[in-house]
Amino acid sequence: MSSIIQLLPDHVANQIAAGEVVQRPASVVKELLENAVDANATDIKLIIKDAGKSLVQVIDNGKGMSVTDARLCFARHATSKIRQAEDLFSLATKGFRGEALASIAAIAHMEMKTKQDQDELGTHIVIEGSKFVSQEVAVLPKGTSFAVKNLFFNIPARRNFLKSDTVEFRHVMDEFQRVALAHPNIHFTFYHNGSEMYNLPAAGYRQRIVGIMSGKTNEKLVPVNEDTEIINIQGFVCKPEFAKKNRGEQFFFVNDRFIKSGYLHHAVMAAYDGLLKDGSQPSYFLYLQVPPNTIDINIHPTKTEIKFDDESALYAILRASIKHSLGQFNVAPVLDFDRDSNLDTPYHYKDMQAETPTIQVDSTFNPFTDDKTNQHFSKASSGPSNYSSGSSSGSSYSGYSKRVEPTASWESLYVGLDTENSESIESSPFTFENEEVTSSLFNDDEVEQTSQKTYQIHKKYIVSPIKSGMVIVDQQRAHQRILYEQFLLNMTVTQASSQQLLFPLDLFYSSAEMELIEELKPSLETTGFVFDATMSDHVVISGIPVNITESEVPLVIEQLLSDLQDGIPANSYSQNDTIAKSMAKSLSVKTGSYLTEKEQDNLVNGLFACKDPNISPFQKPTFITMRVEDIDKKFAL
Ligand code: ADP
Ligand code: MG
Repeated sequence: MSSIIQLLPDHVANQIAAGEVVQRPASVVKELLENAVDANATDIKLIIKDAGKSLVQVIDNGKGMSVTDARLCFARHATSKIRQAEDLFSLATKGFRGEALASIAAIAHMEMKTKQDQDELGTHIVIEGSKFVSQEVAVLPKGTSFAVKNLFFNIPARRNFLKSDTVEFRHVMDEFQRVALAHPNIHFTFYHNGSEMYNLPAAGYRQRIVGIMSGKTNEKLVPVNEDTEIINIQGFVCKPEFAKKNRGEQFFFVNDRFIKSGYLHHAVMAAYDGLLKDGSQPSYFLYLQVPPNTIDINIHPTKTEIKFDDESALYAILRASIKHSLGQFNVAPVLDFDRDSNLDTPYHYKDMQAETPTIQVDSTFNPFTDDKTNQHFSKASSGPSNYSSGSSSGSSYSGYSKRVEPTASWESLYVGLDTENSESIESSPFTFENEEVTSSLFNDDEVEQTSQKTYQIHKKYIVSPIKSGMVIVDQQRAHQRILYEQFLLNMTVTQASSQQLLFPLDLFYSSAEMELIEELKPSLETTGFVFDATMSDHVVISGIPVNITESEVPLVIEQLLSDLQDGIPANSYSQNDTIAKSMAKSLSVKTGSYLTEKEQDNLVNGLFACKDPNISPFQKPTFITMRVEDIDKKFAL
């Protein structure tokens, strides 16, 4: 029987999780790709234009449709995949609702060409906004081609709601990757605006994963294999040392369908217990096969969430098998010269790198003697609430200010309000001399050595006495503020200088990430990055901003990509702002780092030399003050 599509009876249709199928171009991509997979195609081409806004076309070599089916497939609840409600619990296909084509045809211009193998001729149908425009007999190859043009042409509000091409493209890419990863045995090609994004020949899981992610993925993968009565697990997890900042590359496939599961994700994370740096995320590609009658796919309209009968058993098996794999493959760390940051550190930074921050305890310190610090305070006319208005002259902090004659560092916080220093209030808080910068923020030899006036507590706060009492600075937030202002200034006002790398750096990224990098390139260049080349899966970087080290570059870019998950801001101002924030976040000293006295000193001075020292770039307070009276009150109790 060549015609197979039937209209589902109402009572079956009504049991199907209802929801909007078409939200954006990526939804069309998902539905069309899944239909091609369900048609047993071995070769599937995805062609899109303008991130899918003007065209999404999927061409397959699958089983095609008869003349009757070619017309019927556009009807709502018309499907060849299930007949009765029970079939929902033994699904072997991606689709089953018979809704996708009807929904897409209602809001786009659609052209379909289809032919079954056994037929001489095929069918060519044009349908626009659910209206059949034409139907013709045509000479066609075996298989089906759907072209969807002008999405939301009849719903301008929805069309306007679509995000930038970059964002929509990322969604398309996500859907493509999910389907292509789930079906390595199918040859997929993907073109965007005429250029080939992917050409993935039929392969095994590993080859497909590497083909989709990037050339460097292979060495990161650890295989996972487990076969039990209730579940078969295959796939790969990444070695802990390659864990990333963002959650980009985490995939579960259940019976060849991409799904999201917070619960199973937790099982994976539990298997990595103790192996990951705080907050980092491992990539994983896990293929689970379970008996179809032990899951319910029909709980969510996009079919990306499913319900398992025995979730806790799956959790335990998944966790144990990943733990086992990690144990087996991580006993001997692999020497990877490409990744060894010590090897690619430019020589002239070597010594600076080696300087480990230490605590310096002043054994002669006696809190009850009047130290000379107090003398510095006598000039201050007011308390710390006025810091933001002045203190610019004392910017001894940071490599950028090497040329500035530093005033004795800590007291510079107070001199800003002095009339004799009023000039410095007018001048810019930063004096830049880019040729003379150093890589480390904490290596300013010109800072005058004075007796200790700052103390680090709990590797988190810097405490220092001031005239009115004391100030407590949050080291991480303070440093974020300082770096943020430096980067912004660099990007917007001064010409950033960059350090030339001895050997250009090759960094590999997925195509989606590469698109983002491509878009951000101009802004990144203003910070000091020099891109020699951008390929489809990697960038060659030959220069980097002066205030970061080579080994920090991958981290900085990764953080940036992760911060841009929700899209790149439209205007260049907010683009710069986002980049500056992101780089400040990655490069700031963290809570938990020891700071030497000099580093503490530089940090505090640097903070109060900022335009806006009170808050971090993420709107959190950077310091608090405690007045002597407040302390007195506590003792009065
Ligand atoms: P569903 O996939 O849920 O059945 P769709 O609206 O996506 O619903 O498709 C309706 C029907 O059209 C499918 O059941 C299938 O029979 C037929 N069809 C859709 N796409 C293809 C294709 N690429 N090749 C062959 N048949 C197709
Ligand atoms: Mg379908």
